[in-house]
Amino acid sequence: SVPIAFLGGIASAARQGIVVKGGNYLEMLAKVDTFVFDKTGTLTEGTFTVTRVRPEGITKEELLEITAHVESYSNHPIAQSLMNAYGGAYDASKVTNVEEMPGYGISADYAGSRVHIGNLRMMEEQGLRVEQVKTVGTVIYVAREDRYAGYIVIEDQIRENARWTMKMLRERYNAVLVMLTGDSRAAGNAVAKELQLDYAYTELMPEDKLEQMEEFMQYQYEAERVACVGDGINDAPVLARADVGIAMGALGSDAAIEAADIVLLEDELPKVVDAVRIAKETVRVVS
Ligand code: ADP
Ligand code: MG
Repeated sequence: SVPIAFLGGIASAARQGIVVKGGNYLEMLAKVDTFVFDKTGTLTEGTFTVTRVRPEGITKEELLEITAHVESYSNHPIAQSLMNAYGGAYDASKVTNVEEMPGYGISADYAGSRVHIGNLRMMEEQGLRVEQVKTVGTVIYVAREDRYAGYIVIEDQIRENARWTMKMLRERYNAVLVMLTGDSRAAGNAVAKELQLDYAYTELMPEDKLEQMEEFMQYQYEAERVACVGDGINDAPVLARADVGIAMGALGSDAAIEAADIVLLEDELPKVVDAVRIAKETVRVVS
């Protein structure tokens, strides 16, 4: 039977928009000493804006037109930003044979030409040599008919209350803070540095995120218990594998609700601190 105090803990969590799937997860969360965060959409807003457009051999308008058209077939947060930067009209009939590759980017035929849009890994995969752009932003490279056509830089913002949340977890609960991301080393490290995280793993393929966390749980650090916080986009397996998986702002994502042990109804990072506080209080009452 579940001790009555656990029910009390679950109830008080629920009042704060924190859904806990069982008393055992409160018990587990009270023991967590390591927090693993997904970057995009969790530590950051996940809404990118275009900060630079550099066409190569085509016009700026053409570059934006091609990317916006192809990205209109993607649900990735990156796609929306590239569409926002394009002011023109859409002609859906120009885009065919769309192929999205998680961790790489997206390819399609645009007005009869094969187009590839994505990161450096994507360009290398296509056998294309491109200039390596140095910036803290995320660089989106574009190629058309096996020719480099330029790049677009997009930037995301660290969540306003991320600094406070990390500080609380570190100072009040003495937690080790880790970040996993598929984004570039430059973009990832900028976030890790700003938030003073202990470990940052960048340029991970979606399937590498799980492997990296498992490796971390085993060797990297004598972690007692590991909680993972994510939004469920490309990180559901990691949420499921952690001792405590916490899904944030998860109402839109069935995968996240399913995979997580604790669901934060609001898209608010400080709720992680509330959840830990409730877990610790509950355990103190029980024991
Ligand atoms: P994250 O871990 O930051 O959520 P993802 O695994 O979703 O990142 O994506 C990793 C990288 O793959 C992105 O930073 C981007 O470079 C590239 N990418 C993914 N989807 C797209 C897309 N639709 N268009 C362009 N690039 C993309
Ligand atoms: Mg993500």
